[in-house]
Amino acid sequence: METAELAALDREVLWHPFTQQLGWSEEAAPIIARAEGATLFDTDGNAYIDGVSSLWCNVHGHRHPAIDAAIRAQLDRVAHTTMLGLSHPPAIELARRLRDLAPAGLTRVFYSDSGSTAVEIAVKMAFQWWAQRGEPARTRFVCLENAYHGDTLGSVSVGGIDLFHSRYRPLLFDALRVAAGDAEALERTLARHGAEVAAVIVEPLVQGAAGMLLQPPGYLRAVRELCDRHGVLLICDEVATGFGRTGRMFACEHEQVSPDLMCVAKGLTGGYLPLAATLATEAIHDGFLGAHADYRTFFHGHTYTGNPLACAAALATLELFDSERTLEMLQPKIVLLERELAARVAPLEAVAEIRQRGFMVGIELAGFDPALRTGHRVTLAARRRGAIVRPLGDVVVLMPPLSIAPEQLRRLVEITAGAIAQATAGAT
Ligand code: PLP
Repeated sequence: METAELAALDREVLWHPFTQQLGWSEEAAPIIARAEGATLFDTDGNAYIDGVSSLWCNVHGHRHPAIDAAIRAQLDRVAHTTMLGLSHPPAIELARRLRDLAPAGLTRVFYSDSGSTAVEIAVKMAFQWWAQRGEPARTRFVCLENAYHGDTLGSVSVGGIDLFHSRYRPLLFDALRVAAGDAEALERTLARHGAEVAAVIVEPLVQGAAGMLLQPPGYLRAVRELCDRHGVLLICDEVATGFGRTGRMFACEHEQVSPDLMCVAKGLTGGYLPLAATLATEAIHDGFLGAHADYRTFFHGHTYTGNPLACAAALATLELFDSERTLEMLQPKIVLLERELAARVAPLEAVAEIRQRGFMVGIELAGFDPALRTGHRVTLAARRRGAIVRPLGDVVVLMPPLSIAPEQLRRLVEITAGAIAQATAGAT
């Protein structure tokens, strides 16, 4: 099919995520036909730098030969089998790899298929664990203001972005919300409600979907200590920060924190296939042991839980961190990104603040009427210049694949600066 025909059909039959369909037809969004490394190509052959890692998940680039080969090899064995009553080699091997990589104490791996479900599972596990320990009053969750943990009802319940979440409030359970980055606020909430609290859930170090809001150094460590002091569980949602995004394998490592439950997804398969995991301590796992008649089983699972193709992709992705020394190679690129942003983006009049942690960047534009959709217009301008970036309101997000070449990284920042200047010209 020709591009025009595909575009017409897209408008006729598709309903896009997080998209106001009424404006969609005017956007003339590229239709991506193929990709290579950090570059996407549309059906007309135009190239774009994948500036948001295909929604924060691509790690080693598109069509990496090792990941492609691992998926093909698994395809020759079995594409899918259930984990209800069965097991398979990639799921077993990947679980061991995750256990060995994860912060100390996270010894059990429960698979699912998206960041949202990994969070949903952590919340249900924490709730059930307390009930089975004989403390059924611990039913509440403490979460951070502006948190984003996904779109299922449980993960929305512990979310705090009104634009996305307030519509569904009547369907949600009531969580306790505290200001992010403020350990004293958490302390007060736990002092008051501690006995009702099952767990505190945080995005460690960076609140991504809120616009790359950074937490002060020491905050995560303080959260861990407060959870310990009040005897509540800590859930770290590493869906966005995991697998090298912040410069370490997991964000928790920056503050030597081991949570009781940890959620991973996105980068787990290198951005190839949907797979997620909720990692739990042995103590949490053991709280679900009992005779069948005790009904302590964790009654949760999805059809594609632990899909073999996805597990094979994840194993290859994790191996590449060693063979390509991904985290070591990343460090100078983090510095380069910081330098380029300071030189090209920070001086722009429309830019109020640049927030960076590793390869997670939020460029906050300030002083614009939200109705102007300035962030959105920046992304359209960037697209015309050859880069895909995404706005979160008036925050322009950059999250390139960890494997991006330094030259392409420079070009991404150059395009972004040009797009901001163009989209805001005469408006400040
Ligand atoms: N948790 C965090 C911190 C996220 O950033 C996201 C997605 O952006 C999610 C959970 C939800 O993941 P998914 O979109 O795979 O359901």
